[in-house]
Amino acid sequence: MDVSLYPPVFMLTIASVFGACFGSFSNVLIYRLPRNLSVVGPRSFCPSCKTQVSWYDNLPLLSWLLLRGKCRHCQAAISARYLILEVAGILCTLAGFARFGITAEGAAAAIYLLLLLNIAIIDWQHMIIPHTLTITGMVLGLVFSFFTPLGLVPSLLGLLLGAGIILAVSYGYKLLRGVVGMGGGDVMLMGMVGAFQGPWAVPAVLFGGAVMGTVYAVTAGKGKVAGEAKLPFGTFLAAASLVVLLAGDWLWATYLTLF
Ligand SMILES: [Zn+2]
Repeated sequence: MDVSLYPPVFMLTIASVFGACFGSFSNVLIYRLPRNLSVVGPRSFCPSCKTQVSWYDNLPLLSWLLLRGKCRHCQAAISARYLILEVAGILCTLAGFARFGITAEGAAAAIYLLLLLNIAIIDWQHMIIPHTLTITGMVLGLVFSFFTPLGLVPSLLGLLLGAGIILAVSYGYKLLRGVVGMGGGDVMLMGMVGAFQGPWAVPAVLFGGAVMGTVYAVTAGKGKVAGEAKLPFGTFLAAASLVVLLAGDWLWATYLTLF
């Protein structure tokens, strides 16, 4: 299918609807994945009156706005978090297509950003990076590489490099300190980052994530317990991946003009 034959407004509308639906589904993923609950069933229900949510009350953006953030049956407030995630989903897809055009690369970037959004929030809230998301991401990264300028070999190399570096650091840390510094979730996440962005993005994302994590640890006063404090490193890696994906070329070019 040659998508360039369709008007951009049409394609971006479709992309926005997809982003809003994925954002809506993110509410389910973010609640259920860290709790090891099924993401396919049971259907969503109101936490207050336990009434099952009908499909027409579960439409992204529209339902929350039409119901003015209240349950149809018991009038209990529905968290604005639902609406915010749906808007965030739209922003992720539009950012991907805005950066790379209405192309396979744009679609890959959109889906990658949606996965990163979920991973960032779940790690922040639960200190867990669900393998369901990262393994899905690794597979999608490899599949998309067939259709994007990245190519399969760099995608595979990126996956191995990203996962390999974290695995090596984790083992080294364990040998030195006797404790596990980074979890398997970080290994899988960096594998996914490499699969989508290629091997050259891996050091940039690690550097960016480490800087953001350090700044956070210092400003939040967690620097005092240096090394022992638990940080949601995956959240910072996800944020760094977003920056490298959308602005990496520009940042690198700006950096080079300094010399
Ligand atoms: Zn209710």
